[in-house]
Amino acid sequence: MKGVLKSPGDLLEAGLVTGDAAASLEAVTARYAVGLTPAVAALIDPQDPGDPIGLQYLPSTEELEVAPGETADPIGDGVHSPVKGIVHRYPDRLLLTATHACAVYCRFCFRREVVGPGGAGGLTPAELDAALAYIAGHPEVWEVILTGGDPLVLSPRRIGDLVRRLAGIPHVKILRVHTRLPVAAPGQVTEALVRALSGSRLTLAVGVHVNHPRELTPEADAALARLRGTGALLLSQTVLLRGVNDRVEVLGELMRGLVERGVRPYYLHHPDPAPGTARFRVSIAEGQALVRGLRGRYSGLCQPTYVLDIPGGFGKVPAGPAWIESGETGLSATDPWGGRHSVEAEETEA
Ligand SMILES: *Cc1c(COP(=O)(O)O)cnc(C)c1O
Ligand code: SF4
Repeated sequence: MKGVLKSPGDLLEAGLVTGDAAASLEAVTARYAVGLTPAVAALIDPQDPGDPIGLQYLPSTEELEVAPGETADPIGDGVHSPVKGIVHRYPDRLLLTATHACAVYCRFCFRREVVGPGGAGGLTPAELDAALAYIAGHPEVWEVILTGGDPLVLSPRRIGDLVRRLAGIPHVKILRVHTRLPVAAPGQVTEALVRALSGSRLTLAVGVHVNHPRELTPEADAALARLRGTGALLLSQTVLLRGVNDRVEVLGELMRGLVERGVRPYYLHHPDPAPGTARFRVSIAEGQALVRGLRGRYSGLCQPTYVLDIPGGFGKVPAGPAWIESGETGLSATDPWGGRHSVEAEETEA
């Protein structure tokens, strides 16, 4: 089996970049991790510079240009990290980062300054003990979200250990896992891994990161089916990306594909201002127009919540569009086809 493509040389050998491009990419790969699994590389059309899968994974020299407003920690994880490996921004749930490695490295990643292979990001046994002690000491934590990196790159044995230890903390009820593995390396979502994840008293939710309908291959279907077999709640997370999925038809097809596979569209993320990601950015107004276009044309099951993570660590909030607005004659609602309707007279003073 061909391995993961990690260097400009690998990309050149696979025919995904030209020789000139490969040379100029050395500076990019010295700064940010690159990773394309065989599953992902096989989806890219090397003849198409705008290929929506290629755009997500193939490095570009544009990544070295930091645009105004871009920061290394765009959503302020650092502000809310009480101990290494924990981000506790909302009282009832927290992030536990057991590894900073991923199966693939996305060019738009909002944690791109910290993700990567190498051991640096992972937790030592003592650090993991401290993180679990923090959770045990905070009875308000109802849900633990495993993230990274991609937590599912850990071995089934390590996942199993972690799940058992979390299940031993009585106030933790929900285990949520955020992963790209079902589409990025579907063969790695093995029965053993799925058993390790689901074999505890915790209710399991799996948030699958998927951005384009072409990522939903037969292999991905099989991986999702294995996860579904556990009875886990399957959710999706999609990052809105210029050139990848910034069209109503593409988003609609993706959401339908997810629902057909038993995955409930959860969040459509407005892209975070991570360094060197300007080429992916869409405006909030564009995002709102896209989300408006989904409503009415696609089933209610196919409507993710469009969210903005407020830069600085202030939390995620729905980014609209607003369907109901107050005007001079009271509240008015916009229907999915653009018509405006008065829905309620303003309260009169008694
Ligand atoms: C996104 C996020 C969560 C999860 O938020 P939900 O709205 O519950 O999906 C939790 N903690 C942090 C720090 C986050 O960034
Ligand atoms: S899989 Fe997730 S954490 Fe890893 S590079 Fe992609 S977006 Fe970042």
